[in-house]
Amino acid sequence: MVVSGPSGTGKTTLCRKLCEEGEAIFSVSCTTRAPRPGEVDGKDYFFLTEDDFVARIGRGEFFEHANVHGRRYGTLKSYVTDNLKRGIDVLMDIDVQGAVQVRACDDALVQRCLTQVFVLPPSLDELNARLSGRGTESAEAVALRMKNAADEVEHWPRYDYALVSGSREEDYARFKSILVEQRMRVPLAV
Ligand code: 5GP
Repeated sequence: MVVSGPSGTGKTTLCRKLCEEGEAIFSVSCTTRAPRPGEVDGKDYFFLTEDDFVARIGRGEFFEHANVHGRRYGTLKSYVTDNLKRGIDVLMDIDVQGAVQVRACDDALVQRCLTQVFVLPPSLDELNARLSGRGTESAEAVALRMKNAADEVEHWPRYDYALVSGSREEDYARFKSILVEQRMRVPLAV
């Protein structure tokens, strides 16, 4: 399952919760951005240097990678294909550029079970309030994320599901129901 949406919509929290309940594996991405307070290397992200990230691109380790808000982010092939082969669902919290690459990939297993969810903020004003209230980014970083959000939301019609964020409880119930429904689809079950 690919989950995209502007920074601050709560998509990472939704993915994490579903994985904590044992429903799926969270694909831990690599990034060149600095860890936020409380973030753990290997759990939230693999925090890499620019040189290490570029070397991994060269070795073909990424399933997809992109530059987001001025930093590099990438999904490791090992997380996606190894888990899917074992029958484990994988959640990828990735941006719209990454989703384009996943859609275009030639992995038959990924194509067969790919589900794409776009999490939309109730409004850009509310998104601004949530991002600023989070207190994890500088005012400059919040401004950049808000600027990018306006472009990102244009992508929602390319996804299978659009989830307009409301309360945390509502969002989670809707989000989980997408996974549950997808698992019952006949082409996947046979
Ligand atoms: P943050 O810095 O807030 O953790 O993430 C910023 C943005 O990068 C989010 O939209 C998130 O979905 C995206 N992102 C995180 N990991 C990846 C990845 O592996 N690939 C891509 N393309 N985007 C990612």
